[in-house]
Amino acid sequence: MRKCVACQQMKTKKELIRVVKPPEGEIAIDLTGRKAGRGAYLCGAVDCFKLAKKSRALDRALKQSVSDELYDQLEQEFIRVEDDFAAGKGDRNVVE
Ligand SMILES: [Zn+2]
Repeated sequence: MRKCVACQQMKTKKELIRVVKPPEGEIAIDLTGRKAGRGAYLCGAVDCFKLAKKSRALDRALKQSVSDELYDQLEQEFIRVEDDFAAGKGDRNVVE
């Protein structure tokens, strides 16, 4: 079980979308759940992303300041992946 950084609900990894801060490069949405780096989990719903943006939950979870532009960019990506995620089309073969 992991906690959504926005609404603080505990959910299984299958129900959460991971946002990763890789050792190098930009913060990104990680549908595989396997990319290296510090991760933050959000419910697979854009409402939770909006909440995270409002409360700057990603800044805290990823221990890095996240610009408004990056929040907006990630929100757009979140909206794009949300439907596929809900339909179970993402690569969810997470081994833990
Ligand atoms: Zn949530």
